[in-house]
Amino acid sequence: MFLSPAHGQQATDGLIIPPFQPVPVRQPAFPLKTERSLYQEKEVLTARSNIKKYASAAEIQNGILKDADYWLGLSNAEILRVMPDARVPRGFDLCAKGCPVHGDSVFKVGGFYPWIIDPKKPFKVKCPIGGETYPHNDFSGHYEAGLPERKFSGQYEDDGYGWVSPQGDRYWFVAYANQWLWCNHVIPGILALSRAYLLTEDERYAERATFMLYRLAEVYPSMDHENQSRYGLMQKMKGVRYSGKILNRIWETQLIRNVAESYDHVWNYIDKNRSLQQYAGKSGQEIRAFIEANVLEDGLDAIESGKISGNFGMHQNAMLYLHLVRQNAGKDAAIEKLIATPAKTMANNGLEYALYNQVFRDGMPLESPDYNSHWLKDLVNIADVVKKGGRNLFEMNRMRKLLDAPLELAVTGKFTPDWGDSGNAVGKLSARYPETYHVGYGQYRDPRYLYWIDKSGDSSFTSFGSLFMEALPEFARLPEGRAVPVQPSRLFAGYGLGVLNNKADKTALAFTYGMHYSHYHWDFLNIELFANGQKMMPDLGYPDAMNAYVAPVYTWSSNTISHNTTVVDEKKQNLNLPGQLHLFNDGKFARVIDGASPAYKAVTRYRRNLVMVDTDPNQSYVVDFFHVAGGNQHDYALHGPPGAVIASENEWTPPAKGTFAGTDVALEEIYDDEKLKTSGSQVGYGTYGGSGFQHLFNVRQKQSGTGKIEYRHQNDPSARLRLHTLTPDLDGLFMADAYDRPRAKAYVLKYLVARRKSATASPLKSTFVSVMEPYQGEHFLINQANLLTPSSGNGHYVVVERPEATDIVLHDTTASVKRLGTYPIETDAVTAVITTNKNGELTRAFFAGGTYLKAYGKRFQASSIKGKVEKIDAQKSELVVQITSKNSIRPNDLANEIAFFANAGKRTAHPVKSAVLKNRKLIITTVDDLLIGKLRLDEADKENLRTQTSLTFQKHYNGVYLLDPAYQPIARVAKIADGKVSTDQPPSSAVHKGDVLWLSNVGPGDTFEIPAAFSWEKR
Ligand SMILES: [Zn+2]
Ligand SMILES: [Zn+2]
Repeated sequence: MFLSPAHGQQATDGLIIPPFQPVPVRQPAFPLKTERSLYQEKEVLTARSNIKKYASAAEIQNGILKDADYWLGLSNAEILRVMPDARVPRGFDLCAKGCPVHGDSVFKVGGFYPWIIDPKKPFKVKCPIGGETYPHNDFSGHYEAGLPERKFSGQYEDDGYGWVSPQGDRYWFVAYANQWLWCNHVIPGILALSRAYLLTEDERYAERATFMLYRLAEVYPSMDHENQSRYGLMQKMKGVRYSGKILNRIWETQLIRNVAESYDHVWNYIDKNRSLQQYAGKSGQEIRAFIEANVLEDGLDAIESGKISGNFGMHQNAMLYLHLVRQNAGKDAAIEKLIATPAKTMANNGLEYALYNQVFRDGMPLESPDYNSHWLKDLVNIADVVKKGGRNLFEMNRMRKLLDAPLELAVTGKFTPDWGDSGNAVGKLSARYPETYHVGYGQYRDPRYLYWIDKSGDSSFTSFGSLFMEALPEFARLPEGRAVPVQPSRLFAGYGLGVLNNKADKTALAFTYGMHYSHYHWDFLNIELFANGQKMMPDLGYPDAMNAYVAPVYTWSSNTISHNTTVVDEKKQNLNLPGQLHLFNDGKFARVIDGASPAYKAVTRYRRNLVMVDTDPNQSYVVDFFHVAGGNQHDYALHGPPGAVIASENEWTPPAKGTFAGTDVALEEIYDDEKLKTSGSQVGYGTYGGSGFQHLFNVRQKQSGTGKIEYRHQNDPSARLRLHTLTPDLDGLFMADAYDRPRAKAYVLKYLVARRKSATASPLKSTFVSVMEPYQGEHFLINQANLLTPSSGNGHYVVVERPEATDIVLHDTTASVKRLGTYPIETDAVTAVITTNKNGELTRAFFAGGTYLKAYGKRFQASSIKGKVEKIDAQKSELVVQITSKNSIRPNDLANEIAFFANAGKRTAHPVKSAVLKNRKLIITTVDDLLIGKLRLDEADKENLRTQTSLTFQKHYNGVYLLDPAYQPIARVAKIADGKVSTDQPPSSAVHKGDVLWLSNVGPGDTFEIPAAFSWEKR
């Protein structure tokens, strides 16, 4: 080890550069490839005929040829210059501070990776703002001279390990250029050349592609991202391994898969490629052996050792391609392992296990929606490729659910809720992948997939992969540019996300309460509101970067305060456990979701009840009751969309100096973590647990007024929102500004924060209440909203005065009997909405979680359907319930109701798909699966059951049921922890080592309840 060569300035990062370790040339370990693997002749003919027949297919080919032609235009010497050996480091980011001259505004102009790269000027980066280039020395010449030991000390000079600024910051010009040359130019170039050859049989493309593949084989084995990259070395100093090859272990999955595909298209040309044979001094066969050993086998070994390992599905896909293309390196055993073998780690679980242990019962994988869409894309691709070998993964119900889930998640036909690292402040749809759903349509013929991708006939062809498929049929488009048909309110009970929307599906609310696993934010009980064709109360989406050294990613974007939820004791949420659904009901004109999360170690209660009330067929408002108990300070934060904000109904103090963290705390300054303040730039900011209040500036406190503020959406000023703050006993109502992404600063958002503090040491209890009113133009929905408490009983109610009517929106978690004093209303419901017209006549009534409602002389009643689960058929998501309650049941009305199941270990919910009643037995099919886990027993002595199968969802397994290999329940699970399966009683039938067992969320003996709810509207 030696220290970084002396630069003009002293670096503050203490970078240690390990010596270069070349890896010797490999020899093939298996017989060489003998035939093409990925596309058969028949498929190639289909592609050529599509290209002839359809303009969109021809356009795909033209794009490929254009990319390929670029590389035909370069000389061999020019190509060698952009494919340097492993001694030249790589860097996905150049410096967290941006440009040495223009600072972080380069990210605003150019996005996450803003620098401009040109293969004809290797190792130079151009600034997207000033157009100036870096570094100032000729690194290419230095490389060609063999990287002699030399000091670079001038301004902006870079020896490969960056230039150090007078402030001590390191700017990795060469490494950045090198990384992005490989990633965005060289590898896509090889791919385009090889595809061009497959489609046209023009040998010039194959000649160039094989030359580049040969060069890749020369340099590939020594590629070691951990020791040869900016981020790898930074992480290494923290004791963290950041492995990979040319790129990091995740991105490399795509790189090596593309290389494998390329080789499959052009390998058969190598024996004809005289110029390459001459250049390499090898025969065709020797060149093939060289590439197959040094790229394909080296890649397979790197996957085996975990050096290449992506998000779930990525390395599996890469491995599948490498094995198919390499052909004789143990393909069949590898595919068997890929599909049917459990593993100790989530990353290596076979697909048949992963689909149950890493994908929730509603078809949602365990990451953010955008990251989940990668699972979908990769798993569908794997299933498609494997099917050619005669194994049909599409027959698994979970596979279909995986494809359906993104469509069902889409709200108002236009947006995917942005939960965690996903999307942005103005919103978009996730997972709208034409090729993936083209494959899906081929399997299932679901017309929704056609709407989703919006392709048919001539527009069917969107990618190289699609060229090999049949054109999609013509279909009638959905109105108003919707991507999915109108959907009812729905619950993703596994993922922990509920969507309430009006019948027209124009106003929607997404509410999240589930446990987090990957690419998440600390955003428990967050909401997003969609209306007026816009995202009106947005999550801010994907942060500035995925990079431990960019402080605002942790202090702001993934922190609690940036979300529409409540911050306790000026800290980030700090407990990640499954949430609890209390109530979900979709009535005729009003609907409710009520959920809780542990969220904070300091809280005993963190529960939110949201009621959506329609004012006409298209518009609805939401009343929010947010309960927090514990801690000494509660900051309930809401924000509208970017755009104009009108707050003139109130008197505010002038904007304060500093930030919400204090008048003496500057924007972005870390004030509540001494360690990160001084050493964050070296150790990374991932452990930040403070408030993030330093991102809120222009802080103003309300002096007087209603507390109502109005937002006009930046993308459509007639799309408006009013927030009515109704919480009593506040210790301050504040408004402040914040950037959506502190580095890119695409939008400014106005936050409204209601604060309560405990005057004593005793824990604070709060119920924050507000009304969110999205509306169009000048058409307010609400004149006035007031919060009151019942004259007897518990809870709160909001009187919402509208131009033509008055709504009373009532909420009481204790379901006590309440009388409303001035209003002739009495109920025992958790949630109720009562509407009267201008003449004071009752026109609508809704209640949920109670048995009766008396209002204006009318009495309405409803009762829960209660029973006990008798039998399950987990494979069919079917269960038989013996009904114990006396009420009459109309089974057809139960579709889309939420059923709760409970025992001593759990309370859980499933949406009902359909129900049949026979002799007081309800036979119910659930929307989501009952199966929630799959494991192989590795020890089964008497009461000691152990498994090595990776069970990521173990925190959800208290009180679930263990099923034998024939799906018959054999025991109730008390707990599963670290491979030990503890059951309440010994299994009712013998189990053996090696048995494949299932977990069902519901089993015989569970209590069953569909809570009472009632809706009535005067005709
Ligand atoms: Zn610049
Ligand atoms: Zn978020």
